[in-house]
Amino acid sequence: MSKPNILQTVAAVAACKATRTGLRLAKKGGTALPGKAARVFAKNILEVTSEGMEIIVVTGTNGKTTTCRMLEHALTSSGRECLSNKSGANLLSGVTAEITCNATITGRPKTHYAVIECDEGALRHVVPLIHPKVIVVTNLFRDQLDRYGEITHTLNAIREGISKVPDAVLCLNADESLTASLAQDMPNKVLWYGIDTPVGEQKDAEISDAKYCIRCGNEYQYEYHTYAHLGGFFCPSCGYKRAKPDVAVTDFVHMGPRGTDVRMRLPEGGAKEGGTESAKAPAGKEQEVHIALPAVYNTYNAAAAICAYSAFGLPREEILSSLANVHSSFGRMETFRPGKCDVQMILVKNPAGCNQALSYLADMEETFDAVFCLNDRTADGHDISWIWDADYEKVCGCGRLRHIYVSGDRAEDMQLRLKYAGAKEESVTLIKDNAKLLEIMKASDVPVFVLPNYTSMLALRDVLAQATGTQAFWKG
Ligand SMILES: [Zn+2]
Repeated sequence: MSKPNILQTVAAVAACKATRTGLRLAKKGGTALPGKAARVFAKNILEVTSEGMEIIVVTGTNGKTTTCRMLEHALTSSGRECLSNKSGANLLSGVTAEITCNATITGRPKTHYAVIECDEGALRHVVPLIHPKVIVVTNLFRDQLDRYGEITHTLNAIREGISKVPDAVLCLNADESLTASLAQDMPNKVLWYGIDTPVGEQKDAEISDAKYCIRCGNEYQYEYHTYAHLGGFFCPSCGYKRAKPDVAVTDFVHMGPRGTDVRMRLPEGGAKEGGTESAKAPAGKEQEVHIALPAVYNTYNAAAAICAYSAFGLPREEILSSLANVHSSFGRMETFRPGKCDVQMILVKNPAGCNQALSYLADMEETFDAVFCLNDRTADGHDISWIWDADYEKVCGCGRLRHIYVSGDRAEDMQLRLKYAGAKEESVTLIKDNAKLLEIMKASDVPVFVLPNYTSMLALRDVLAQATGTQAFWKG
């Protein structure tokens, strides 16, 4: 496919900007439509409007948005202008819209840096146009099964995307056996990140999306676990095993609801050639790092962000200091205060992410209420049976959960799930009206944790944002 000429470029950029302006005037948050409009005039407009930018792309099932936010925060707090697709529009049209609306009318980018969240399936369409310098793959979990079929299909889609940009440095999670396998047979430089030490209860996870070796099919063994199928995996049969990370969490000093203090081993230099050679990574410097977001999965996100920032060639001190005051992003542990008490929203999309959120709740020291919202629309995946794989028992039995509200299209399913998890009937209320839910949250005298899946998060966040004067996400 050829690059658009100047006339096509001007038409496409104009169409993109006009569509976005029109949507905003109509108070609609359409994030993909401007990109679609631009592509009518020039299919590959993105190749022009991203030219010369230095770009980090983040893909994977969980942690994309938060990792992007950490990177963006580090760049902007160091005085570097940076573009990102904050709204979560992470398909080709959404990325096209974000980057093209940021360009001059002749298609030149106005900012030098971009941090782009990209859907796993869209990676192969997006990266050949924007030529990222760094690609972060966070992890792979079972998610939105009706869209992707199975997990290896998603992995192959990511592999295809990476194969189109051999010059991009890969930042891979050493503890996650599926995405770690991307280092094989790829010419790309690889930097690894991971957690060197066990966290939480060391039991074989009930939920494992990767029980068997991706190379030979035999069952993995683990030196230790961190969460879900992540940890010190090795295959006793073919020898496939966790690579030694370049950016590694070596110890958890303190874990609290407001953040985590860890010790980290950091690399001396940049990325190395070849995937598997990293097993010989030199012992780098160790230092203590404060991450201003709680939970183990955010520790992984922070390690991914440090790894990407290093691969990007920028001073590591910038990201280390910015992690100490990073704020949560859109729906991911975002906190609102509609009344007397905090309302914290934690997006959950799959059993692994949900279990992490439930562990976080179960570790609370004070009494709280919870709202579980479940929709089954296309963006959520129609199959909601994953709620039966998530460990609601843990939070129902923690002793500090006072009352539960269930909401969303499939609230009844959630109610049933909680009954089996041991929640007393009188402590669960079904409320489908978001306005009523808001009134309850306003009046609450204890903190409220809201765990919605994607489309229910959008609706509820809207209500909370309006009540508290928080920006709508497409204006963020
Ligand atoms: Zn094997």
